[in-house]
Amino acid sequence: MKILAVSDQVVERIYTLAPTGQFKDVELILGCGDLPYTYLEYIVTMLCTPLYYVPGNHDPEFNPNDTRSKAEGGFNVDLKTIIYKDLLIGGFGGSIRYRPDGVNQYTQSDAYLRAFRLLPTLLFNQIKHGKALDILISHSPPFGIHDDSDQAHQGLKALNWLIKVAKPKFLLHGHTHFYRNNIAESETMYQNTKVINVYPYKLIEVK
Ligand SMILES: [Zn+2]
Repeated sequence: MKILAVSDQVVERIYTLAPTGQFKDVELILGCGDLPYTYLEYIVTMLCTPLYYVPGNHDPEFNPNDTRSKAEGGFNVDLKTIIYKDLLIGGFGGSIRYRPDGVNQYTQSDAYLRAFRLLPTLLFNQIKHGKALDILISHSPPFGIHDDSDQAHQGLKALNWLIKVAKPKFLLHGHTHFYRNNIAESETMYQNTKVINVYPYKLIEVK
């Protein structure tokens, strides 16, 4: 299955390529946060495929009654898991806390508490499907992988823990932008999980 994953930056090329059928074999769109919801809605409309996404630290706080806090036609999977064509997909939004009043920002301990809330669903998946997760989408990278040394771009340790517990085949994240030579890699194996920085977009083949 071909997946289009997007994050952090609007790519003008997608506006030009989507109407030409360039992504016609894409069966799923995954959003890793910090994108205008109008951009996500445009991609969903053009590709006519499901979108699952998590919010980033620049996205508004989720409010089910406020259409501006969600992407129409998509599903916010923050702290949820869903199944799509046998693929178990889970979500973990937000980043490390670097501003006291920032939304979708968590201290390392807050992030652990959020990750623990996923445990019952992961356990249920394991019993029902024989696996906890295939793909975990997050906004933040895990700690020490594709993260950066400044406070705002430190990865979340809870994601390293989730990888160990849920053993997804892929963790897709955003938040770390490439500039100068700050990050050497966008794909790293951690345990048995391929960690991919999708900034600003990636086409990923999943079996
Ligand atoms: Zn971010």
